[in-house]
Amino acid sequence: MHDKGDLASLEHRLEAELDGLLERRNPDSPLAVLGAGLDDLGAGRKYLATLAPGGYITPNWPALYGGMGLDEEPAGVVKAVLARYEAPDLYPWMVGIDLVGPTILAHGNDEQKARWLPAIRSGEEIWCQLFSEPDAGSDLAGLSARAARDGQGWRITGSKVWTSRAHYSKWGLLLARFDTSLPKHQGIVAFGLDMASPGVTVKPLVQMNKDAHFNEVFLDDVWVPDSDRIDEPGRGWSVALTCLSFERGSLGGGLGVRREQLLRLAEMLYGKTDVHRDALIKNLISYDVIRFNEERSKAAALAGRTPGPEGSGSKLRGTALVKSLASLAMAVEGGAATARSGGPDEWVNMFLVSPSLSIRGGTDEIQRNILAERVLGLPAEPRVDKSRPFTDSH
Ligand SMILES: Cc1cc2nc3c(=O)[nH]c(=O)nc-3n(C[C@H](O)[C@H](O)[C@H](O)COP(=O)(O)OP(=O)(O)OC[C@H]3O[C@@H](n4cnc5c(N)ncnc54)[C@H](O)[C@@H]3O)c2cc1C
Repeated sequence: MHDKGDLASLEHRLEAELDGLLERRNPDSPLAVLGAGLDDLGAGRKYLATLAPGGYITPNWPALYGGMGLDEEPAGVVKAVLARYEAPDLYPWMVGIDLVGPTILAHGNDEQKARWLPAIRSGEEIWCQLFSEPDAGSDLAGLSARAARDGQGWRITGSKVWTSRAHYSKWGLLLARFDTSLPKHQGIVAFGLDMASPGVTVKPLVQMNKDAHFNEVFLDDVWVPDSDRIDEPGRGWSVALTCLSFERGSLGGGLGVRREQLLRLAEMLYGKTDVHRDALIKNLISYDVIRFNEERSKAAALAGRTPGPEGSGSKLRGTALVKSLASLAMAVEGGAATARSGGPDEWVNMFLVSPSLSIRGGTDEIQRNILAERVLGLPAEPRVDKSRPFTDSH
């Protein structure tokens, strides 16, 4: 636990530094919605490059790799202070900053950390997550992209799908199978894949909000040097679990919904029916429950506990809140919201993006399975293929 005085002086020092770099946040500015409709990467790159020298975007990364070397509590102060300033939508960089960077810190070697982390933090290099395949989503360990050894490297063949932002990613965190005779979790290897390698084809998929958010990625005999392999062959599943635990953490916490959005919604509701007001109050209560749980997770992290199944609870609650808020806003705004000229506002975007939250980062059903088994202690699902060679069941 840190001294309150130390945290307050950190807060004052940060405000003084950031006042020289960024504009204070205007509470009426619309909030970005998970990258919806974002094609212009210039503003995000500029913002990240501005903050990179101070390490503010990655406060808990070691100073050696451009972070501030802070633990959970002061790092939380940095995030809270940053939220007081205008920021562009950083969604395209979040896979790199929130998921891949911490995964490389946990599983990469020193050369990889020195090579990959600075460009993630500065926003220069965008990363994507090459995990899901047409036949491996919830059952990710059933993935079948193949990695075959070839001299000083590997040949990769297979296809990935739903790969967010692959169309402008420089690197992808890739999972592939190097040994089909091993049980499915044991035969996996992880790589950093240079997306410009010969044999990589990226085909965007357009969603209902017209955003080409994610892609199919085809890998046709792609050569990857062994120096881009992350951790040992056979440790790929552990790399995946590390990355997924960071993903659940980043998708929890109300998914970036801010109190000012709730207040804007309350203004829209002024003079409307009691039914809508009742729904708003329920959402406000959910919002506070999410915040209190976040505090509890932070306290647990400070006490040295590694993240547990509570990430699944946070993700479920955050998803339900965003869906409910977006539906409420649509009920109040009605058809006018979608017909507005100048493009959709933050609520329309949120409404159109919200169904995907129940799928990405592990579906609602999978989060409930985790809670059922690991929190409530209910009997585990039958997993007959867990200890058999991969080839026996696929
Ligand atoms: C917006 C968005 C962005 C994404 N970005 C990425 C990305 O960048 N990289 C990436 O690798 N993937 C990405 N994904 C893919 C995502 O991780 C998968 O869609 C997800 O894991 C579900 O897999 P699936 O689509 O194959 O569905 P399936 O696994 O086929 O599931 C179909 C249905 O069956 C249910 N189901 C499956 N198994 C069980 C079970 N054991 N018990 C109960 N119900 C079950 C599911 O809940 C679901 O309702 C993204 C998805 C979305 C929507």
